[in-house]
Amino acid sequence: MAKKQFKSESKRLLDLMINSIYTHKEIFLRELISNASDAIDKMCFIALTDDKLGLSRSDFKIEIASDKQARTLTVRDNGIGMDKEDLENNLGTIAASGSYNFKQQNAKTEDIDIIGQFGVGFYSAFMVAKKIVVKTKKYKAESGYIWQSEGADGYTIAECELETPRTEIILYIKDDTDDEKYGEFLESFKIADLVKKYSDYIRFPIIMDVETRKIKPGTEDEDTPEFETATETRTLNSMVPLWQKNKKDVTKEEYDDFYKEKFYDFEPPLHTIQTAVEGVVTYKALLFVPQKPPYDYYTKEYKPGLQLYSSGVMIMESCADLLPEHFRFVRGIVDSPDLSLNISRELLQHDRQLKIISQNLAKKIKTELQNLLKNNREEYEKFFEGFGRIIKYGAVNNFGLDKDQVKDLFLFYSSSEKKNVTLAEYTERMKESQKYIYYALGESVNTIDKLPQTELLKDNGYEILYLTDEIDEFTLQSLRSYNEKDFRSILNEDPEIEQTNEPTEEKQEDYSDVVAFVKETLGQKVDDVEISKKLKSHPVCLTAKGGVSFEMEKYMAQVNPTANVKAKRVLEINPSHPAIAATKAAIAANPEKAAKYAELLYSQARIIAGLNLDDPSGYTDLVCELFI
Ligand code: ADP
Ligand code: MG
Repeated sequence: MAKKQFKSESKRLLDLMINSIYTHKEIFLRELISNASDAIDKMCFIALTDDKLGLSRSDFKIEIASDKQARTLTVRDNGIGMDKEDLENNLGTIAASGSYNFKQQNAKTEDIDIIGQFGVGFYSAFMVAKKIVVKTKKYKAESGYIWQSEGADGYTIAECELETPRTEIILYIKDDTDDEKYGEFLESFKIADLVKKYSDYIRFPIIMDVETRKIKPGTEDEDTPEFETATETRTLNSMVPLWQKNKKDVTKEEYDDFYKEKFYDFEPPLHTIQTAVEGVVTYKALLFVPQKPPYDYYTKEYKPGLQLYSSGVMIMESCADLLPEHFRFVRGIVDSPDLSLNISRELLQHDRQLKIISQNLAKKIKTELQNLLKNNREEYEKFFEGFGRIIKYGAVNNFGLDKDQVKDLFLFYSSSEKKNVTLAEYTERMKESQKYIYYALGESVNTIDKLPQTELLKDNGYEILYLTDEIDEFTLQSLRSYNEKDFRSILNEDPEIEQTNEPTEEKQEDYSDVVAFVKETLGQKVDDVEISKKLKSHPVCLTAKGGVSFEMEKYMAQVNPTANVKAKRVLEINPSHPAIAATKAAIAANPEKAAKYAELLYSQARIIAGLNLDDPSGYTDLVCELFI
């Protein structure tokens, strides 16, 4: 029988295709199954219009069989089949797609979901097969045909006996090499894995005889029970893409189980989002917010992104472009029929649709989280405990470009409410005369609450946000303001409230010698000494003037010690406090003692500010000297 040459421009195209288009050899199975599914779809379409056929949807199936001895893998479908012309035109011509033509011809009449479009998928089988045999008979055709090819040097076609319409693709799997173990594609567990991975939502059953190993009956109780292998016919794919279903037809349990199985979590998701959009782009998405970050979330191992499907076939396992940085903890699936896929279905040639989808999804996630915040505060608090920090980074990432998308999602502890509040709640409660949103940074709510600087504001009925996370300060700096109110750290600046403890001019005058003496004594240790406006019952506090706060100084010392970022230290003293009066008296009576007082006050201010002492034992010596 004379061999026919492939019709494409160059035979080399086939070689090129086989060896360079696909990065993963395993996708050949996805391509063959997609073709089988397309063929069945076409047959279903015909069955709709041809009653005589007597076929119903449930009669269709895709069968896979592997024969390890013969090293063959067979994919069989009872779809539309091919006649001689089809074989010549579709399998004999690289980059010709019968499916694409079919879709073009029928697109107007019926809405059919056909996967094929490039006419190259079939050839991917040559990545793993040294020879391919196709036995097929087309619906309404007189005869069946057998098509055979060993790759680039052509193919043969001959008639063969076949009863009903079908296509059987038989792959003669390549021999194993040192680098490539092609034999694994004959293992039923491997095939089952690949079907689950790429073709789980093909809408027709994919059936295979799977080998199972069971304990031989009667040997269960023995020390070393015997095993026997049996084969079991199984449907490998689950077929029902939950995201294609109507929300009201899916139970919470189904969603939960789906999430746990698909995303390897033990716990059900904290929140489930299902959305279907039709318009400029059409897509369906099923998204999950986990209970808490997975253990590897902050490592390189964590692969952010959503699974991307096109008409039920997996295109990408984690498409990072679908999620903004601040929502990268979201898990889920996006399925869109109108993605512009490239020829290998691995990458996208244009990312315009993808961009629109990702923008829509980000908005959707934000709205859903806001609803959760409004309707189920307890759940939201739980969510924020796990993911708040990532959300807060969202205000800082990309030079603050996304800050509007996250600012309403923040929670901070409130001094007056004694619980977490949002910025909206804070600004709604603000007094009319209050100019700023006050905040204080510190190690914990408790330490901040005890800071001398917070006392006066709290007593005057002001609300302060206690920020305990390293990122908080950067977040607020990036926001700058909320509802047109600027943020102000009470540890850095003058709070500018109506009733301060501003000392009278007389008192200022009176204590100017103390200010000068303390400043002289402390020298380089402080940048300035001032009479305080915000202290009430405490003698001293340390304030950071200018842009750098003590928290930032501590943070920078950890991440970039050589930069030596230092806050500008101002020691504030409270002239109404007896310790300051005692210092004043000592300056006149015993300057040596007064100098020790100054050192002590400074050390105390450092401790309260959460800064380390340069000389802790020197400090305790000073305290002990007071006993004598
Ligand atoms: P595509 O699926 O993108 O069209 P393929 O190379 O995968 O390209 O397949 C080429 C063509 O061969 C298909 O469009 C279809 O017409 C035909 N074909 C492939 N597999 C089958 C099959 N199992 N049954 C019927 N026709 C098939
Ligand atoms: Mg195809």
